[in-house]
Amino acid sequence: MRRVSILGATGSIGQNTIDLIARDADAYQVVALTGGQNIEQLAEDAIRMRAEVAVTCHEALYPALKSALAGTGIAAAAGDAAVAEAAARPADWVMSAIVGAAGLVPGLAAIKQGATLALANKETLVAAGPLVLAESAKSGARILPVDSEHSAIFQALAGEDIAAVERVIITASGGAFRDWPTAALAGATPEQAATHPNWAMGQRITIDSASLFNKALEIIEAHEFFGLAPSQIEAVIHPESLVHALVGFNDGALMAHVGPPDMRHAIGYALHWPERRELPVERLDLVKIGTLSFRAADTTRYPALRLAREVMEAGGLAGAIFNAAKEKALDAFIARRIGFTEMAQVVEAVLDKMSSENGLENAIFEIDAVLDVDRLARIRAGELIDQHF
Ligand code: NAD
Ligand code: MG
Repeated sequence: MRRVSILGATGSIGQNTIDLIARDADAYQVVALTGGQNIEQLAEDAIRMRAEVAVTCHEALYPALKSALAGTGIAAAAGDAAVAEAAARPADWVMSAIVGAAGLVPGLAAIKQGATLALANKETLVAAGPLVLAESAKSGARILPVDSEHSAIFQALAGEDIAAVERVIITASGGAFRDWPTAALAGATPEQAATHPNWAMGQRITIDSASLFNKALEIIEAHEFFGLAPSQIEAVIHPESLVHALVGFNDGALMAHVGPPDMRHAIGYALHWPERRELPVERLDLVKIGTLSFRAADTTRYPALRLAREVMEAGGLAGAIFNAAKEKALDAFIARRIGFTEMAQVVEAVLDKMSSENGLENAIFEIDAVLDVDRLARIRAGELIDQHF
């Protein structure tokens, strides 16, 4: 039996992961499931999947979780440290599906114990790519990408020589506002931004898809994970969300990954890798689809894409600042403190301010430095929002 843990089990990726594992439950021993506020879901899944331990990141919810699991023999725990401890429990395969930089420390704990890390949490590589890759080299833990675009690239690269790769092209649906005039974006509400045309995902990544901050994170993620130069990574708008990414080789060939917008494909690929197994996803009817379309992703309309380039050029801890400032700006947008287009203004201002005040390029790349800079970026973003918006 394979021992598996799911970090962020109650979220969109977590639930899709449980769906796949539950279909073949006898093949897996579920070690740990972690979640947040949705104690009912967490306890229900822990019982159904016969997990060893269930953990909520909220300490105050410990009594609720404990009583929901009373008499089941499943251990309950709470708090950030307990989430990281759960990730460190010996397992063969760990799904990293917490949202935000909060996924970094638990993901690292899983890597350190040598588990294969199925990485949905893109923030891990954006904030601390070099550190995470160094830890995985040290422990021998394999990281398998779960973000659909990166899974697509990974699959297109199978059996190929990375030296023959000229470029990768990541597609973006364009999110909720892809057909809105640019001038209308300033007035967009959180509810409007949280409606995705093609994918069913958590609220935060759905809003990030509308601002293309999600794509910005993914460009940096591809840069870190595949070791590609920034100039080798392109993004295009592809409204159908059927081509997830393409890899361009030095002979001019483009290998595209085409599939339905269903995260169970990328999750299942990472679960069964290096094998391919049957997955319960739609089989595409190309004739019915008829047309696949692509258009340019305009960096004036989507400043997040320009900022991603600046972050990659700066290197070091710029990714951690970028991500943290983005998370704080997103909080402020959801709370209606700032407008949709002001999120990018906040992030850019924080990047400018912190790169001039800190000499970040000289920072030592270790976890405490990443967490310090993450905290400081959130403080700076909060100050800016209070002063200017
Ligand atoms: P979600 O909001 O649906 O779920 C997030 C999970 O993380 C929940 O279980 C929640 O309880 C937990 N969580 C939230 N804050 C936490 C904290 N501070 N500490 C510990 N746990 C916490 O999110 P999602 O859409 O499933 O996305 C999860 C990750 O996967 C994100 O990094 C996202 O960018 C990435 N991803 C998601 C999709 C998708 O289709 N949803 C696709 C590609 C990548
Ligand atoms: Mg993606």
